Amino acid sequence: MAQNEPPLEEDLLSIAKVIIGKLYGEHARALLEHLAENDYVAEEKIAGTLEFRSNEARKILQKLSDEAIVIPDKVRVENEVLHIWRLNKPALKTFVLNRLKRAREKLEVLLKGESENVIYECRSCRRRFLLDDAYAYGFQCPHDGEVLVEVNNPTSLRTVKGIIKKLDILILRIERTKSA
Ligand SMILES: [Zn+2]
Repeated sequence: MAQNEPPLEEDLLSIAKVIIGKLYGEHARALLEHLAENDYVAEEKIAGTLEFRSNEARKILQKLSDEAIVIPDKVRVENEVLHIWRLNKPALKTFVLNRLKRAREKLEVLLKGESENVIYECRSCRRRFLLDDAYAYGFQCPHDGEVLVEVNNPTSLRTVKGIIKKLDILILRIERTKSA
C-alpha cells in the first residue's frame, strides 16, 4: 500500500454532503450520497431510484451541474441508452475548498470587526466608551478620573480564532489530497 494514498476522500465527501445539505436541502444531500455510492444516476431511472420526485431530482441535478459537481454522460444498458449524471470528484474538491475559504473569509471579517470595536469601561461608574474616545480621554474616565479598562469579549474572539485555525488545517489537508 502506498503511503501517499488519499486518506481524505471520505472526509471530503462528508464535508461536501454537509455543505450541499445546507445550500440545497436534505434531498440534494441524499442525491449526492447516492452518486457517491453508485456509479451514476440515470435520468430515465430517477423515479425508481430516489425517494423523492423526479422533477425535484432534476432541479437538484441542474444546481449540482452548475457547481460542476455532476457531469452528464450516456451509457448503453442492454438496448437502452441512458442519460446519466456522474459525480465529478476533482470538482468536488474545488467546490469544498472554495466554500471553506469563503467561510474563512467571513470569519476574518467578523474577527476584524470584533477586534476593532473594543469597548472601554470605567471601573467606578461603569460608563462605556469606544476605543477612540477612551484614547482621547487618556484612558481615564472624564467623570471621575478612574481608569478605563477593556471589556471586549475575549472568549468569542478566541473562539473565532480557533475556528479559523481549524479551517486552515482542514483547507491545507484537502489541498494536499489527491482528488480521485
Ligand atoms: Zn467613571
